[in-house]
Amino acid sequence: MNVLVLNCGSSSIKYQLLSMDAQPVILAKGIVEKIGLPCGNFTYKAEGRDKIAIEQPIADHSIGMDLILKTLVDPKLGVLSSLNEINAVGHRVAHGGEYFPESVKIDKEAKAKIKALGEIAPLHNPANLKGIETMEQLLPSVPQVAVFDTSFHQTLPKKAYIYGIPYEYYEKYGVRKYGFHGTSHKFVAEKACNLLGWDIRDKKIITCHLGNGASITAIDKGKSVDTSMGFTPVAGLVMGTRAGDLDLGALIYIAQKEKLDLNEINTLVNKKSGVQGISGVSSDFRELTTAWENGNERAQLALDVFAYHVKQYIGAYAAILNGVDLVIFTGGIGENDFYIREAVCENMEFLGIKLDKKINAVTRGADVTLSTPDAAIKVMTITTDEELVIAMETVRLSH
Ligand code: ADP
Repeated sequence: MNVLVLNCGSSSIKYQLLSMDAQPVILAKGIVEKIGLPCGNFTYKAEGRDKIAIEQPIADHSIGMDLILKTLVDPKLGVLSSLNEINAVGHRVAHGGEYFPESVKIDKEAKAKIKALGEIAPLHNPANLKGIETMEQLLPSVPQVAVFDTSFHQTLPKKAYIYGIPYEYYEKYGVRKYGFHGTSHKFVAEKACNLLGWDIRDKKIITCHLGNGASITAIDKGKSVDTSMGFTPVAGLVMGTRAGDLDLGALIYIAQKEKLDLNEINTLVNKKSGVQGISGVSSDFRELTTAWENGNERAQLALDVFAYHVKQYIGAYAAILNGVDLVIFTGGIGENDFYIREAVCENMEFLGIKLDKKINAVTRGADVTLSTPDAAIKVMTITTDEELVIAMETVRLSH
């Protein structure tokens, strides 16, 4: 069975075509970028072949998707002989609100709810829905499934998701913590338990998904009980360009001083803040590390602040869970950046965290135990694969 996985943003479409028979295999993948701009980008990489990149204007999502489908069946470049070989389509959908504690097969009702949630996720859900509707037109008889970033966190207890603001805003507008990256947190926790031969139902796990967007989740007996992102992904950790937790009074003060309107505040906290804002160098951790090695003090400060916040959340979630069995690092930074992992785990022996620094220093993009054998808490890097989760969910629900 072949599954096309789509992640539609407001101006981009990431795609992967996977064969899900026996062992999953990625047949082709790529990205359509800068949709609607004068100069669009299309990349395509078929299994075992070189990546190709084409620059051409891509006016809208439907033209972008058409390009993807045509390339997949192209006599020279393609990996399929006909579109009939696509058996299902899985969509990453950012916000499932309280409607979707699980992935869902797309029907009229699901689309109406995803649309309604565009109110609280205006940057993501409308683009996700556009992806679904376009695919319905292009592949009318193929089942489609939506997998939500928020679903895994629907098990949070109410005391963890209610904000300290008038309750009416929860009732009227659904303002509460939802959390994101759910597919990744769930996937790496389950994968680690499988590798260790553990039953997740006995375990307390803290998962650190550290990428451009970053979040931490406390998992008790396989269920998310708290997570660092909130009503939107801007909450929690300092990230690449997002501010994370912030004194709201400070924001009001800056807005008054700089005479910022709401759009500008939005841009400030989502696009200009985080390690980019602190360092003035980059949001990319590789570039920050290079700058730090060259003596840039603010790049070092940005890395220190990031590691400090991750450490704070691990401490907080250890308290919430009443102990921890396993801490997992994943995402581009979590899987690769040994400096950050070392800085996070430093001086945590009191809790039972002790890294083998030599193993840590050479571990990149692999499933590896980093803690010393005598440490009370296991620390691991686990590679995440959100597309695979979406494909597996799509297989499960599309029959
Ligand atoms: P997202 O999926 O949220 O866009 P990723 O999970 O791909 O982000 O993570 C991107 C981040 O991971 C970037 O800051 C990048 O610098 C960092 N990263 C990737 N590889 C490495 C590496 N080898 N060493 C340090 N950081 C890395």
